[in-house]
Parts: sequence; C-alpha cells; structure tokens
Amino acid sequence: GAFQTIEIADEQGTRRLANDIAMVLKPGDVICLSGDLGAGKSTFTRALIRAFAGEPELEVPSPTFTLVQTYDLPRFDLSHFDLYRLEEPEELEELGLEDLLETGAALIEWPEKANELLPGNALWIQITQPTDGDDHRRFSLYSDAPHWQNRIGQSLATRSFL
Ligand code: ADP
Ligand code: MG
Repeated sequence: GAFQTIEIADEQGTRRLANDIAMVLKPGDVICLSGDLGAGKSTFTRALIRAFAGEPELEVPSPTFTLVQTYDLPRFDLSHFDLYRLEEPEELEELGLEDLLETGAALIEWPEKANELLPGNALWIQITQPTDGDDHRRFSLYSDAPHWQNRIGQSLATRSFL
C-alpha cells in the first residue's frame, strides 16, 4: 500500500508538493507518475523541473515524440520521460535511462509502458481525481525502497496542501 496519501486542493497545491519533492532529489532518483489523462502528471512534472531549475518560466513541453527531454540544470540533470508512445518496454534502454541516472534524476510519465524494466528503488506517485470536474487530487506515494519514506515522509506529513 501507499506509505503516504496527500490530498491536494488545487493546482497550486500540486506545485507546492512538487517544490517539496524537488528539494530532496538526488542523482539516481526515479519518480514514476501514474494516473489517467488529465490527472496532473505533466503539471506536477513541469512544476518540479521549474522548481529544481530555479526558473519559474522554464518551458517544459511534454516529450510526446522524442519520449525524453533532458534538462541540463545547475545541480544535476533532470530527464523528463513520457512513455505513452513506447511500443516495447525494451525501447527504454535505447532512450538511455541507465546512463542518465549516473549523473542525474528522472521523472517518468506513463511508467506502466516500461513496467518491470524500471529501477526497483523508484518512487511511484499515483494521482487520482476523487470527484469528477473539480481541482481536488489525491497523490498516493509508493516505493519498495524505504529511503523515500525517510526522505519525504516526515516533511510532507506536517504540510497541508489544502
Ligand atoms: P496529465 O499529464 O496527467 O494528462 P496534465 O497535467 O496535462 O495531466 O493536466 C491536468 C489538468 O488538470 C490541467 O488542465 C490542470 O489545469 C487541471 N488541474 C486541476 N486541478 C489540478 C491539480 N490539483 N493538480 C494538477 N492539475 C490540475
Ligand atoms: Mg501528461
């Protein structure tokens, strides 16, 4: 089950959560974002990259056709994957995830497309929309690696995103 569930009232709450997670990122980290179309995966990812870059206006388009976009940022690289168009999980290797993780971190939308080829220490974030047509989102955090809970559980537990 989820080690933490966070209720988010609106887009600003999503951005604040993304800022908090950006603060604890380390090279080698993988964050997988699942959720239906329109759940807020790209909104979260864009906010995290902007916060990490320290550039609130940075253009962060979804890499729909290239499947990955790497941002060369002051602390380390961040790579934004959108695997929606991945045809075989094995294609992930060609995108160079392993090499990117030696020097940077990765954010992965539609991780289900690569499934078991993703590193086992990833943080999985499932975004759901409890009621149709409003801005409330539920972020459920999962990981097989206990370090994520240690790194972000404490700080988020005391924050309100509502
Ligand atoms: P996905 O990448 O999961 O398909 P997007 O981030 O592209 O989703 O789109 C999310 C949509 O939902 C945007 O239109 C955004 O304005 C809207 N939205 C409403 N409330 C929120 C929220 N709390 N967090 C993120 N997006 C929200
Ligand atoms: Mg998206």
